[in-house]
Amino acid sequence: MTTWTNWVGNQSFSPSSISAPRDEEEVAALVKQAADRGVGVRVAGAGHSFTPVVQTDGLLLDLSALTGVVHTDAVRKRATALPATRIRDFYEPLWEAGLALRNQGDIDTQQIAGAVATGTHGSGTRYTSLSGVVRGMRLVTATGEVRDIGEGDLDLLHAAQVSVGMLGVVTRLDLEVTDAYRLREQVGLRSWDDVMEHWDELVAQHRHFGFFWLPTEESGALYNLDGHGERLADQCYVKVYDEVGPDVPDDDTVGRRVDRCHRIFPMVYDPNFHELEYFVALERAPEALQAMRELMLASLPDSIYPLEVRTVGADDAFLSSQYRTDTVVISVSGTPGTDYWGYLRSVDALLAQFDARVHWGKLHFLTPERLHELYPRADEFIALRRELDPQGMFLNDHLRPLFA
Ligand SMILES: Cc1cc2nc3c(=O)[nH]c(=O)nc-3n(C[C@H](O)[C@H](O)[C@H](O)COP(=O)(O)OP(=O)(O)OC[C@H]3O[C@@H](n4cnc5c(N)ncnc54)[C@H](O)[C@@H]3O)c2cc1C
Repeated sequence: MTTWTNWVGNQSFSPSSISAPRDEEEVAALVKQAADRGVGVRVAGAGHSFTPVVQTDGLLLDLSALTGVVHTDAVRKRATALPATRIRDFYEPLWEAGLALRNQGDIDTQQIAGAVATGTHGSGTRYTSLSGVVRGMRLVTATGEVRDIGEGDLDLLHAAQVSVGMLGVVTRLDLEVTDAYRLREQVGLRSWDDVMEHWDELVAQHRHFGFFWLPTEESGALYNLDGHGERLADQCYVKVYDEVGPDVPDDDTVGRRVDRCHRIFPMVYDPNFHELEYFVALERAPEALQAMRELMLASLPDSIYPLEVRTVGADDAFLSSQYRTDTVVISVSGTPGTDYWGYLRSVDALLAQFDARVHWGKLHFLTPERLHELYPRADEFIALRRELDPQGMFLNDHLRPLFA
């Protein structure tokens, strides 16, 4: 029996079988056979979610053969890719076409279909998550039928943009991209009060603004953040990226690099943490952040991991954490193998007071009641899911209580 384990090692399970189809036709045949036998199906992406979103005791699909950017259109600003294309595999084909992803997150090893399925995002209110730039998708549904979803069927597209694999197997994605751009980074330590005082201008004036608040001196090393000898405890490690024109030369000086966008965005993480990430409406950000800092200081030593703070622009996806709302993103972590659930539950209780939505790929405590309160289109998502998959073959034990 084969066991599947995610990247960080906190989720593992044994599916009844694993198949690695070579193309969409094989995907459709496998889904059809599973449906005929009443077997559940889930797809494994790159395994970078912390939640049991891949788990199945049925058929697990490994789509790693379905990879590559298959089309770019510099006029319409579009790129079409197969589902297992890693974020980093977009860089060269897009750059050669004079294009780039509009925005991206802290790492680039996720598969595009996996990243889109959970609403993976970077930072900056001018840009949406990767799901928000999906303009079309091809899906193998529960009958084994191949269905093209596009802007002609906006409700279905908005349901499919963030679906956590519940509508079927994604075999192709059409993304809105942008002209290739270069970025200048500005990285430095600032005090909490300084960042809070300049919050509005930092959010409004930069393409990307985010920071890690470091509760203790040891916090930086946990995420490979180098303070270059400066005191770290209770400091904010601030990262700002802005676009520069062709007149600005490349620079490889750490902390103020200038380079192609895709060389500036990615960070390097060790698999030494489990993360919870919640999203609060941007206008409530300062109040929520202040409350989080107070909670973390009171909860030491459990909360020595940095508090990561970013922003993301609104979109229309039914299960998006940014559904029609610009948000601040608040992430906290704990050490694998230690009992820090009490701390995460207090973060959940605190941010619930701010009507926080969740990241589907990161630890959360969402209940069906909160789902319906916080996601105004959840009912419509569930209705479309039932229509496409009446037997619930794409649900699993983690998703069934919320979406059956
Ligand atoms: C170190 C680290 C850094 C991270 N940084 C960020 C960040 O900056 N921003 C952010 O938002 N998130 C971040 N994440 C979370 C991560 O981006 C998401 O969890 C993402 O979903 C992982 O993509 P994956 O390819 O690993 O997908 P998986 O975790 O393998 O799968 C995610 C979901 O997608 C489904 N799926 C995958 N492929 C398909 C398909 N073809 N058809 C249907 N369903 C499919 C899976 O079944 C599952 O439900 C980070 C995670 C880690 C571990």
